[in-house]
Amino acid sequence: MKENLKAMDNLYDSNHKNEDFWDGFLLSPLLAELFLAGRLGHAYIFSGAAALAEALALAKVVNCLAPKNGQPCNTCPSCKKVAQDCHPDIRVLKPDKDAHHIDAMRRLQAEAYLQAYEGGKKLFILVSAELLLEEAANNLLKVLEEPPEETIFILVCADGEKLLPTIRSRCQLFNFGGTADMVLDEAKLKALQPQVAEFLQRLPILTLTQVLQESRCEERDKEGWLHYLAAMTQIMVKAAKREQELSLSPQTSLKAALMIEHTGGLLRRNINQKLLLDIIFLRLWQYSHTN
Ligand SMILES: [Zn+2]
Repeated sequence: MKENLKAMDNLYDSNHKNEDFWDGFLLSPLLAELFLAGRLGHAYIFSGAAALAEALALAKVVNCLAPKNGQPCNTCPSCKKVAQDCHPDIRVLKPDKDAHHIDAMRRLQAEAYLQAYEGGKKLFILVSAELLLEEAANNLLKVLEEPPEETIFILVCADGEKLLPTIRSRCQLFNFGGTADMVLDEAKLKALQPQVAEFLQRLPILTLTQVLQESRCEERDKEGWLHYLAAMTQIMVKAAKREQELSLSPQTSLKAALMIEHTGGLLRRNINQKLLLDIIFLRLWQYSHTN
């Protein structure tokens, strides 16, 4: 599953300027609630496969001109600018030669205390935050200790545990996808692949009722579903990398893989399993029909 995380990170890089790419991605219900209640904090660590997509969805919704139920509209000028990576108040910081250096954090520090250009919120997204060098992390810590008004920092990483404890203690931690604590049986995953691939291949010709029937298969218990969804994600990541032929486009495959990581991760938290599976299969069906 670690491989999946890395692959998704790389694919994000090649796709994040595609305006429509993240449009189907929903902000997690918890973050949407916090936004609606006006209770967003100053600093977050987002980990897991869907962390970057969540950070971008949050970047959209905080300045969205017409948010709905705590979700960004994806069509207003502000949402479009975030999608095109050209919003003046949203900064996505990537590591420079495999590290975040102190210079970049000094620039962040200088920028963070300036007023937002567009009068809304400022948001800094630090991609692969585990690559912060110690000096750079200490500089960032100074900013987190005296957070500027109306500014949100999101540290995106595969594993939040790898960040300095001093940084962690200043941030709220959210795990999206959360594959780290999931022990999956490789043999089971492999055995499931042909069956899952066949289902995905037929997806575009199935009716919604047929697709939802699959989600109600009673032979699988929770563990069985976690394996099924993990096998599905593996296949879709391969399709997104063009290593496997699927009826879904590479772009749709990645979107679906992120959606499953995101929604499927909730299964382990004992949230209504039937409802979650229905949501996953409904979205899969929608994706396959708007391919
Ligand atoms: Zn909007």
